[in-house]
Amino acid sequence: MGLACDVLVAGSGAGGMAAAVTARKAGLEVLVAEKEPFFGGTTALSGGWLWIPNHPMQKEIGVSDSIEDASTYLLHEAGEKYDPERVNAFLTAGPRMVEFFARETAVKFDPSASFSDYHPEAPGGRPGGRSIVARAYDGRELGKMLMTLRPPLPELTVFGIMIGSGAELVHFMRWSKSVASAAFVARRLIGHGAAMLFHGRGVRLTNGNALAGRLLKSALDAGVRLRASTAVQELVRQNGRVTGAVLRTDRGEERVSARKGVVLACGGFPQDAQRRARLFAHREHFSPAPSGNTGDGLRLAQAAGGRLEESLPNAAAWVPVSRVPRGDGSFGLFPHFIDRAKPGVIAVTSKGLRFVNEGNSYHDFVQALLKTGQTHAWLVTDHRAIRAYGLGFVKPRPLPLAPHLKSGYLLRGETVGELAVRAGIDVALEGAVEKYNAGARMGSDPIFRKGDNAYNRFYGDPDIKPNPCVAPLAQPPFYAVRVVIGDLGTYDGIATNGHAQVLDESKRPICGLYAAGNDALSIMGGNYPGPGITLGPAMTFGWIAGRHLAGQQP
Ligand SMILES: Cc1cc2nc3c(=O)[nH]c(=O)nc-3n(C[C@H](O)[C@H](O)[C@H](O)COP(=O)(O)OP(=O)(O)OC[C@H]3O[C@@H](n4cnc5c(N)ncnc54)[C@H](O)[C@@H]3O)c2cc1C
Repeated sequence: MGLACDVLVAGSGAGGMAAAVTARKAGLEVLVAEKEPFFGGTTALSGGWLWIPNHPMQKEIGVSDSIEDASTYLLHEAGEKYDPERVNAFLTAGPRMVEFFARETAVKFDPSASFSDYHPEAPGGRPGGRSIVARAYDGRELGKMLMTLRPPLPELTVFGIMIGSGAELVHFMRWSKSVASAAFVARRLIGHGAAMLFHGRGVRLTNGNALAGRLLKSALDAGVRLRASTAVQELVRQNGRVTGAVLRTDRGEERVSARKGVVLACGGFPQDAQRRARLFAHREHFSPAPSGNTGDGLRLAQAAGGRLEESLPNAAAWVPVSRVPRGDGSFGLFPHFIDRAKPGVIAVTSKGLRFVNEGNSYHDFVQALLKTGQTHAWLVTDHRAIRAYGLGFVKPRPLPLAPHLKSGYLLRGETVGELAVRAGIDVALEGAVEKYNAGARMGSDPIFRKGDNAYNRFYGDPDIKPNPCVAPLAQPPFYAVRVVIGDLGTYDGIATNGHAQVLDESKRPICGLYAAGNDALSIMGGNYPGPGITLGPAMTFGWIAGRHLAGQQP
């Protein structure tokens, strides 16, 4: 006799866990199968931000919003790929999903008034207020299950600490300038040391680790059955309906029947080399997503008659990453979210020329790079800026630069020309820096307009005036870090409707089959409108799927 449940969920990231908790809370028997030994997927590595226009906390922070403005914005962003049915489902259900989790589960969020949409000046855009972040979480609440939660990306921690975005990050950036910040950092270091001693890992979970930890706790509290190291390998169909699956476990294959249906939430295809080669125009690609995200959900859906949509102008959410040498000869990946916007940091191709407003979103940055025909670029800065802000994996003062110079992660030159030669950048870099500096001395960037919009300024340095994103590269030595193309998750995916049901080639729903998270085609049309635009829809469509499976309308 095999296993039986009402709902089988493949994958334990935000999409899968949102569906599982919602369905369980509606009274269904739910089993989550997670292929990897850890729960949490890419979600556990992420920033933990969700983009939810009209979310219930907007009033508290004095932000006004409307479904009309948000759909206008998404129409502008998605262009001809705009899907009114799914966008409307997302915008209507998103705020209710947030209310549900805040009211009934351990998942709690904090709003931000100032984290801007990525194109705030576009029609319907907002300079802040649409994004919420998972509240920091005490991992000890998970008991022994804490050890089954995927740990954060080592490259995004400082001495193993995952620094929370917002106020916590500001304390870490300012710790040598303010007594309060120094005390905060000292407390965090002592707390982390104690946690390592007693628990073998950090227990103050922040960002995406807090989100995945809170979802795991909510699933445990609700009575969701959780199986790690268990992959959904094949779907079982009867009379055109998905009724279960074959699982692959350490002990061999196991059959599970799912009376109401199956939710595919395997996190898209960032680690599927074949699909990547077919859908990405560039070859050299590095994804920080977990190695288990190999596109299983897309293959499972297709084998069950589901339609894949693979024609978005960008098949994934791009991010520039640098490769960080690890002690054992391998490389970690550092995603460059913040440093590019800092004053005194520019980006150039190997031709020595700037190509983008460096403060723009990671997705826009990479698109601009791809337009130049190159697949890598250099972030270039001077001594003042690197000591004030760090650069990529290099931390600000007083942490030393020497290990990074030694490992080859960071290159240095006494002059811009010397740096160019060391890095193999064309000496045109000297002219590019001079040209940038001419405007930067007055706080302007006439060519690329760095610092012109609210999103650029969010990550700038408010102490630098008049433009928090622009300062000359004037103090030698000069430094460079090489960045290549990576992704935060994929966009092309399984065609679904507003109920998160998988559609067949005739655009009819396949009974008993749902997709959420990055397995489902993104509603953003290949664009990246704002902070949290993958996790917001992932949890919302997970919630919609959970309710639909329980016979409830969104
Ligand atoms: C550093 C970083 C920061 C990011 N920050 C943000 C952010 O702040 N906001 C935002 O919106 N997005 C962010 N992203 C992107 C976001 O993390 C992902 O888009 C999101 O987590 C995807 O969620 P998911 O549920 O689709 O998949 P995942 O969270 O990746 O979960 C999928 C799970 O499915 C499992 N799986 C795979 N195949 C099978 C199978 N056959 N059977 C069973 N299980 C299977 C995988 O092992 C994995 O655990 C970030 C990404 C990175 C890397």
